Amino acid sequence: MVHGDDSGLVLPPRIAPTQVVIIPIQQKKEGVLEKAAEVCGRLGKVARTKLDDSDKSPGWKFSEAEMRGIPVRVELGPKDIEAGKCVLVRRDTREKIECSLDEVETKVAELLETIQKDMFERAKAHRDSHIWDAHNYAEFTEIANNKPGFIRAMWCGDVACENKIKEDLAVTSRCMPFNDQEHISDVCACCGKPAKKLVYWGKAY
Ligand SMILES: [Zn+2]
Repeated sequence: MVHGDDSGLVLPPRIAPTQVVIIPIQQKKEGVLEKAAEVCGRLGKVARTKLDDSDKSPGWKFSEAEMRGIPVRVELGPKDIEAGKCVLVRRDTREKIECSLDEVETKVAELLETIQKDMFERAKAHRDSHIWDAHNYAEFTEIANNKPGFIRAMWCGDVACENKIKEDLAVTSRCMPFNDQEHISDVCACCGKPAKKLVYWGKAY
């Protein structure tokens, strides 16, 4: 479940070494770094949090945080502090969320859970949308030659069929699901003989 886009990594919160980065805006202004450090201390209790108080510009820090795939970035500037709020930015969707400083721990913890769940759902939907059922050899061939992903097909259990599929189409068996023994057909998608096993097949690159 490691993802990425043009800006770099997109890590699911559970595996991200740093889950939250706080980036102060106009950090030389009085009180900004102090407040950022205070928020960092509070967030440190609910997430793996870092404060980027280096001398680089905020824009540079944003890019660096994006490249490293840190799931949530907290932006905090003098105007935010005055208004008692901060801005949370999701790495996965880039959505910006205004957040009251009073409830920043709760909101960040909730957001990390949401990101984790959303990323998992998206990965699952992506995987599920790339599984194709083949009921006979014509369908099997058509899918293997034209569609990316996995092929679900019945197999008689004969190694000869497995070898034929491998030689004809460069496709190999990947797994035989135990919990998902659905019968999509009664016959082997290769030879047409009776088949009881459902197998996932994938292109061997
Ligand atoms: Zn067969």
